[in-house]
Amino acid sequence: MTGRGTETEVAPPTTDGDHERFAHYVRKADIVRANVEGVPVVALCGKRWIPNRDPDRYPICPTCAEIRQALFGKG
Ligand SMILES: [Zn+2]
Repeated sequence: MTGRGTETEVAPPTTDGDHERFAHYVRKADIVRANVEGVPVVALCGKRWIPNRDPDRYPICPTCAEIRQALFGKG
């Protein structure tokens, strides 16, 4: 678990017809809402999609990582 001061969570990409294989950083509140309401999340890099709950690991989206580091000062 990441913890204090970090309001983002890594969301896996959808495997349903999505060519991307990156996990993106998304606000935790967005992920919760996506899971409950089935609405798309918006990643830090601006990507919008409906995440699945697949626990598989994906490489982190470099754009998201860069933005998150700028926001929180740690990777
Ligand atoms: Zn991203």
